[in-house]
Amino acid sequence: MNKIAVVGAGISGLSMANYLEKHNIDYHIYERRKKEDLAGHGFLIPQEGIEYLTQIIDRSLLFAHGSFLKKYIQYSHTGKKLAEKDLSNVFAISRHALIQLLSEKICPEKITYNATVIPCETEKGKLKNADGTDIEADITIVSDGSKSRIRRSLFKDEKMRQVRENEVVNIITDKEIASSIENDFMKFHHDQGGLTFGILKLSHDTILWYSQFDNEKYKINECTADHLKNYMLDVFADWCPLVSSIIKKSSYKNVHLWCVYELENLNPFYKNNTVFIGDAAHPLIPFTSQGVTSALKDSYTLTKYLVEETDITAAFYKYESERKPEIETHIHNGRILLNQFLLPTDQQTDNILPISYK
Ligand SMILES: Cc1cc2nc3c(=O)[nH]c(=O)nc-3n(C[C@H](O)[C@H](O)[C@H](O)COP(=O)(O)OP(=O)(O)OC[C@H]3O[C@@H](n4cnc5c(N)ncnc54)[C@H](O)[C@@H]3O)c2cc1C
Repeated sequence: MNKIAVVGAGISGLSMANYLEKHNIDYHIYERRKKEDLAGHGFLIPQEGIEYLTQIIDRSLLFAHGSFLKKYIQYSHTGKKLAEKDLSNVFAISRHALIQLLSEKICPEKITYNATVIPCETEKGKLKNADGTDIEADITIVSDGSKSRIRRSLFKDEKMRQVRENEVVNIITDKEIASSIENDFMKFHHDQGGLTFGILKLSHDTILWYSQFDNEKYKINECTADHLKNYMLDVFADWCPLVSSIIKKSSYKNVHLWCVYELENLNPFYKNNTVFIGDAAHPLIPFTSQGVTSALKDSYTLTKYLVEETDITAAFYKYESERKPEIETHIHNGRILLNQFLLPTDQQTDNILPISYK
C-alpha cells in the first residue's frame, strides 16, 4: 500500500482526505495553521460543486450551514437596477463552516496541525517538516494554496503575476440586513467600472459582503481593520443608501484584503511522486467562483485514478489530462470577467453572472 502525505488542510486537502476515506486509503495530512484558526471568507458554489460535496458531506447537514441564492441582481452604484437573472442552485457558505464540515470525518491521528512542510534544499522533490524531520511518503499530494512553496521549488521558471483586482471581504452578523436582502445576491457596480460591492446571505443572521477594486485606480496601502474601514467609508460614501449604510453599520473584526495572483502559464500538475491539487495546481481568480468546485473535482478525479491504476505515473497522467482542459477554460473565462469588470457598465456585455461555466 502506498504511503500518502497530503500537504495543506484547506478545501482541496480536506476533500482529498474525505475521498480517500471513502475508498479506505490511508493518508496523513500536514497543515501549517492551528486547528482552531479558521479565519476566512465565504464561497459561492455552483450546482456542480454541490454534487461533489454531497458525496462526502451529508446533504442536510451541508444545507443547514449555508443558504441557496435565488436571484442575481445587478445594480448601478446609485441603486438603479440594471439586470436580473435566476440562479439555479448556487449555494453560499462560509469557509469556516465548510472547513469544519470537511474535517468531521477525519480522525485526529491522521492530521498534524501547526506543521509547516518545506521543500528540502539538498534533495530535489523531498519534503521536510519545519523541524527538519523528513516527510516519508510514496505519494505527496500538495494542496498548499495558490502561492505553493513546494510548486515554486519544483517549477523554478514559473511566473506569478498580480491580477488587476483586489478584494475587501467581510462577514458580519446582522439579522436585520440578512432578512432585508432575502436570498438575493445583489451586486452594485460603479458606472465607470473597476469598482463593485456585492452582498449575499450566508445564514439567517450572517451576511458576506465584498468589494472589488481595480488596483490601478484604487490604492489600498494598509490592511489593518481600521484602515480598511475608513477606506470603505470614504470610497462608498456617495453610493446608494443600502450600500453606504451596510458599510457604516458593519463590524470590521473579520474584514480581510485579498491581493489576487495568477500564474502566467500553468505548470504540469505533477512531477515524480508529487501531485498538485486545488489552488496549488491552478490558482483561479475569484471572478470565476470555481475555486472550490475545481478543488473538489481535482480530489475526486485524483482519487478515482489512484484507485484504478496500479502505476502512480499513469494515475497522475490521467488526472492531469482530465482536469487541465477544464481549468484552462475557467482561466480564460476569468480573464474575460476581469476585463468586463474594468469597463464602464454601458460597455459591458450581457453575460453578467459572476460565475464561469465550462
Ligand atoms: C477573495 C476570494 C474570493 C473567492 N471566492 C470564491 C467563491 O466564491 N467560490 C469559490 O469556489 N472559490 C472562491 N475563491 C477561491 C477559493 O478560495 C479557493 O479556490 C479555494 O479555497 C482553494 O482551496 P485550497 O485548499 O486549494 O487552498 P487554500 O484554501 O489556500 O488552502 C491551503 C492550505 O494549505 C496550508 N498550507 C500552506 N502552506 C503550507 C505548508 N508549507 N505546509 C503545510 N500547510 C500549508 C494553509 O494553511 C491552508 O490551510 C475565492 C478566493 C478569493 C481570494
